[in-house]
Amino acid sequence: MTSPPMPRGRARARPLWSAGAGVAVWLAYLWAAPTTVLGLLASLLAWPRGRICLVDGVIEARGPLLAWVLRHLVPLPGGAAAITLGHVVLGRDQPTLDQTRGHERVHVRQYERWGPFLVPAYLVASLWVAVRGGHPYLDNPFERQAFGDE
Ligand SMILES: [Zn+2]
Repeated sequence: MTSPPMPRGRARARPLWSAGAGVAVWLAYLWAAPTTVLGLLASLLAWPRGRICLVDGVIEARGPLLAWVLRHLVPLPGGAAAITLGHVVLGRDQPTLDQTRGHERVHVRQYERWGPFLVPAYLVASLWVAVRGGHPYLDNPFERQAFGDE
């Protein structure tokens, strides 16, 4: 998840169907698949005036309805600019997707490591940080990693 403003970044090129894609890559997609399915369902909010495309093996969706949801339903000041669910990134618009790509790709890698346990681990980490007096978003270790703090 990225709250505005966010750092610029570039995606690490790793196309899903390259000739060199090994078993480990496919296992990473499989491990993240439960959350990716949720992301695919959420990406339907990109229609009718949005767009869904594949960028470096990750589905990126954007559109006015997604922008409204990210702005008003994500519990961050100002909402979220983008959010990652498995191998799906939901963004407000194309410039936002371009600007947050590096950050959100770190979250994709986290899903590949943690699989279906990332969302509960993320929430527990936020709660743990908040109990200790930190900011549940900015001090969350998953976000710190995505922002390059660790
Ligand atoms: Zn994030």
